[in-house]
Amino acid sequence: MKSRKITLSEKEIPNHWYNIVADMPNKPLPPLHPGTKEPIGPEALAPLFPMELIMQEVSAEKWIEIPEEVRDVYTMWRPTPMFRAHGLEKALDTPAKIYYKYEGVSPSGSHKPNTAVAQAYYNMKEGVKRITTETGAGQWGSALSFACNHFGIECEVYMVKISYHHKPYRKLMMNTWGANVYASPSDRTEAGRKILASDPDSPGSLGIAISEAVELAAQDPDTKYSLGSVLNHVLLHQTVLGQEALAQMEKAGDMPDVVVAPFGGGSNFAGIAFPFLRLNLEEGRSIRCVASEPASCPKLTRGVFRYDFGDTVGMTPLLPMYTLGHNFVPAPIHAGGLRYHGAGVVVSQLLKDNLIEAVSHDNLEVFDAGVQFARAEGIIPAPEATHAVATVIQEANRCKLEGKSETILLNLCGHGNFDMKAYEDYFAGNLVKHEVTSEEIEASLAELDTPIPG
Ligand SMILES: *Cc1c(COP(=O)(O)O)cnc(C)c1O
Repeated sequence: MKSRKITLSEKEIPNHWYNIVADMPNKPLPPLHPGTKEPIGPEALAPLFPMELIMQEVSAEKWIEIPEEVRDVYTMWRPTPMFRAHGLEKALDTPAKIYYKYEGVSPSGSHKPNTAVAQAYYNMKEGVKRITTETGAGQWGSALSFACNHFGIECEVYMVKISYHHKPYRKLMMNTWGANVYASPSDRTEAGRKILASDPDSPGSLGIAISEAVELAAQDPDTKYSLGSVLNHVLLHQTVLGQEALAQMEKAGDMPDVVVAPFGGGSNFAGIAFPFLRLNLEEGRSIRCVASEPASCPKLTRGVFRYDFGDTVGMTPLLPMYTLGHNFVPAPIHAGGLRYHGAGVVVSQLLKDNLIEAVSHDNLEVFDAGVQFARAEGIIPAPEATHAVATVIQEANRCKLEGKSETILLNLCGHGNFDMKAYEDYFAGNLVKHEVTSEEIEASLAELDTPIPG
């Protein structure tokens, strides 16, 4: 029998998160105040986040200890398994060895609880009563609902309207964990009302939903805001998964030549890639780390590196990142978690410095890949994850052409069991190949009046 599953014991859950900032040759540029456009210090974030998370946000310390209470919750599903994808290798007839780390075993079905639990914990420690947040596909909202429920905090979720209608069971999952969920844009906030006034049929976007959640948190001292991606502390928390993956690869007696993950704001990519990038930075290895994004929201491959807002209305600090412009409303593709105009500051700097790579795939190619994966490996990937599966297939086909037996590691960051509407549309032939035009990107970028870094 060929061995498939590579497991770790509970004791092997990492004790520390890895902060790549400590090892970066060029440190991230500072965030700027949205009004004055001057660099802001940590205190500017205090209305939105608990102090401990703000300190992590600006930390350059290499290893940050994971609190015992957080590790304790992690044991509900961690360490997560890694699998050798014998079925997919056979289907592709490739000499490449393919492994995947599977984060779909968490309570909400993706990597998101790795940070949700940590964030809810620090909020609880600092006496926060309520957390507001946004969610795209519903993965982040579910993860935070689960985590807030665990630590006794109220949770209010602004869910991008198109997903709210596509994914009623995601909403009910959040309700089951005790959260209140609203379709965004909503009439509960000034930001939401402003968008509805100009476009009553707006499908919503992550940028809009962020504006709503931030507005509410900024107004109430007992309410904080929480973000499921992009920010440094979120990326930091996700490194628990890559550290496990590194230990599992070592256990399998192998090491990846290529690490692949889907890219929304950068958290699951950072989670799997940073512990391997550490080996590149510390030991001069050359493991390729590839971020995979949709052709309809291609900030890494076709956006620009400059200061931009994290939200649509322009309430957040300006961040130096790859962006399509904060007014960019991506086509309503099913990979809701990837419909974000910007990218994390740390991953943006790494891309600018050519330390990581990015590719894009269209809407049809990724579902071809997702179905092929499901038939070969059993697990149905989340629509976001299918992007990385498409990249893995591309890499495996390249290995076949070049006759190379490289090792490819995929982050299968979530299952698609609540995303069957997407698969239904794919099987019914209702999905169209969608690629944003250069004119659309240029028009969105032309609206930016934010500073250009350097
Ligand atoms: C949220 C999400 C993503 C995108 O967010 P990142 O921060 O880039 O990881 C990708 N896949 C799944 C399953 C998600 O839930």
